[in-house]
Amino acid sequence: MNNQVVRCDDCGRSTKMALQVRKYGQGMQETYFECEHCTKKYTCYVTDERARKLQKKLRNEKNPVIKFQLQAKLQERMIKLKRELMDSV
Ligand SMILES: [Zn+2]
Repeated sequence: MNNQVVRCDDCGRSTKMALQVRKYGQGMQETYFECEHCTKKYTCYVTDERARKLQKKLRNEKNPVIKFQLQAKLQERMIKLKRELMDSV
């Protein structure tokens, strides 16, 4: 997967972005990674059924205008889901 190296905001050291997926109720999935030094968790994005459907549509869509609209919709959805998840923990 993605082995990008990022700097942890918490401890200031470099850590690999080893992405992991955690599942929640109602088909919600969180993609995240943890700092390998201080185990601080960073949420990359959160999806649910609807968001994944949008992702799929987006991959198959050829029209750039529609693609752009789908992208915006997906972004909005994922921001909302992330906020909901953050509030619930
Ligand atoms: Zn850290």
